[in-house]
Amino acid sequence: MVTWDQELQHLKEKGLYRQLNSVEMMEDQGYAMVNGQKMLMFSSNNYLGLARDKRLIQASIEAVQRLGAGSTGSRLTTGNSLLHEELEKKLAKFKQTEAAVVFNTGYMANIAALTTLAGKDDVILSDEMNHASIIDGCRLSRAQTTIYRHADLRDLELKLQQTARYQKRLIVTDGVFSMDGDIAPLPGIVELAERYNAVVMVDDAHATGVLGKNGRGTVEHFGLKGRVEIQMGTLSKAVGAEGAYIAGSRSLIDYLVNQARPFIFSTSLPPGVMASALTAIEIIPAERERRFRLSGLSQRLYKELTSLGYTVWGGETPILAIICGEPKEALMLADALRENGIFAPAIRPPTVPDRTSRIRLTVMATHQDDQIHHVIDVFKKMAPALKRG
Ligand SMILES: *Cc1c(COP(=O)(O)O)cnc(C)c1O
Repeated sequence: MVTWDQELQHLKEKGLYRQLNSVEMMEDQGYAMVNGQKMLMFSSNNYLGLARDKRLIQASIEAVQRLGAGSTGSRLTTGNSLLHEELEKKLAKFKQTEAAVVFNTGYMANIAALTTLAGKDDVILSDEMNHASIIDGCRLSRAQTTIYRHADLRDLELKLQQTARYQKRLIVTDGVFSMDGDIAPLPGIVELAERYNAVVMVDDAHATGVLGKNGRGTVEHFGLKGRVEIQMGTLSKAVGAEGAYIAGSRSLIDYLVNQARPFIFSTSLPPGVMASALTAIEIIPAERERRFRLSGLSQRLYKELTSLGYTVWGGETPILAIICGEPKEALMLADALRENGIFAPAIRPPTVPDRTSRIRLTVMATHQDDQIHHVIDVFKKMAPALKRG
């Protein structure tokens, strides 16, 4: 029998062994203690800076004091507080849908939706760059899964034509792709779905709070209100708390509450988390300046790095991928960033395709101008070394 140590050795030999960093966000926005060292944080999903917002923290403290540390049960038993119901009402209003339901994590929300809404007589059409939780949801659903080329509407149409025999066809896509920072071609996807009688599900993990004038996500960004049946999003990224939601019609949500196993068989999120999410959902549409700032900084970084000769993907979102090619180039750049106090990891295959090893930067609305300049300076210094390869 192979031991765990031998398995770990294999991982190490393949360069796939990973270790945890201990990270503590600091009150001084933009900074974190990483393994005991103060670093400029350029890889957090805390896009709007809300995870350290005093109002979220205060709401959480008050809820914990009033209602306790844990929720004590699943939603259908003893774990359904007024806070859960209020958050769901507010989420539905925010997403401009009839209803919404909260899940403990985005991972669970995707597993819940895909396993409940697609079964063995159905087919799921999934973008090849979709998040791992969608891939796992497809596997667990027992539906046929057909992968279409990334953001490729012609390939999606071809695959819709080839799958007419299935009872139900569900197209699922990330709204914002986490590794490339690009936005799904949702208007085209919705048109195809309408033409071929398919259902659309969008995962707005990285778009909630970030895209659209009010931060409602990709549907608002593209003006597609009422045309995307299933909208998933997280409360753990820009929202600054924890958990996730699915928003849609009253009957969709009611069906999920009745049938989704990750909803039924898991203890609900605790009051403190619900209270901070609730506060954030009020702040997000009200404080548009956070989104202006975020997109301004992202675009500036995109322009500056491009003009230094780097190949940069993304930029329309706070996710920027600086493509280096081979893993060693990405590692060299990551080392230089770290030595200069910037935390932004190298991403290599198999997480991303061969020859697209990269540095993945994420911007926060709370980054200061001089912090952005510092990043640009390091890339400027490194540009000649990278060109020599
Ligand atoms: C982060 C993420 C998830 C999972 O959300 P969690 O709340 O972290 O479990 C799902 N989908 C996408 C696209 C994500 O980026």
